[in-house]
Amino acid sequence: MFFKRVLLFLVIPFLFGCQHNPKQKSDPGAPQKAITQSTPYLMHYDAVDELQAKQIAHWLDHGQKDINLFFDSGFKKKFEVFIFSERDSLDQQWQKDWNMPDFKSQCWMVASGIAHRLDILSPRIWKTQACEHNSKDTLATKKLIVHELVHVFHGQHNPSPTFENVENIDWLVEGLAVYASGQLDKERYQRAKNYMLAEEGPNSLADIWKGEHKYGLAGSMVKFIDDTYGRKTVVQLIGFTKVNAVLGALQISEEDLIMQWKQSFNSKNSG
Ligand SMILES: [Zn+2]
Repeated sequence: MFFKRVLLFLVIPFLFGCQHNPKQKSDPGAPQKAITQSTPYLMHYDAVDELQAKQIAHWLDHGQKDINLFFDSGFKKKFEVFIFSERDSLDQQWQKDWNMPDFKSQCWMVASGIAHRLDILSPRIWKTQACEHNSKDTLATKKLIVHELVHVFHGQHNPSPTFENVENIDWLVEGLAVYASGQLDKERYQRAKNYMLAEEGPNSLADIWKGEHKYGLAGSMVKFIDDTYGRKTVVQLIGFTKVNAVLGALQISEEDLIMQWKQSFNSKNSG
């Protein structure tokens, strides 16, 4: 169950330890330096990651503006950003957060975001301590960080700030982060479209956030909702924790939503 959610960039912990006041500065191997930004977050990082921190702060500032525009509202409260200088420290944090003492992250897991914190493995070491991510691709790295920032925003506007008490909305949480961060670019959309035109594709919402096309599929579902129902409805959805509430707001059955989403790949305007 857990690993259904711990996919690629993010992680929505079922077992999150509700640490609303994290004290990473005193943890072994954790970032030790903190700077106060003019923006609503506090960033922690090791001296070795000073350049990374500056770059990430720049992207976060841009990302916040984009997110504010996308949702037409702001972050509700301050949050903390932790840049981990090595994977073991990040693992220790996630072990604690999810109450899984033996948890070892997989190489493609590089970041997570919830209402009060954004954790990221320093892109400086992705080459040796991560896979599937290239820190030299700065646009992709920026979008990845904004993706996590969307999770932070979403958590701040959701009754379950850590997403631990949600029910079958992975596809929405991840799709929204993919779509609002710009990760659903033409290429990714086209890959998802090609896949959907060639295969049957998922027949349930729970199956959207699975497999190698999950980013494109989840992102395209949120794009479909945005195109069909409008942005106000998308914004409304961030306050729901259960799939039934989401379907109720859309006034549609799961079956029909899936069917109409699939049909959208056949339309001339589908990218
Ligand atoms: Zn995510």
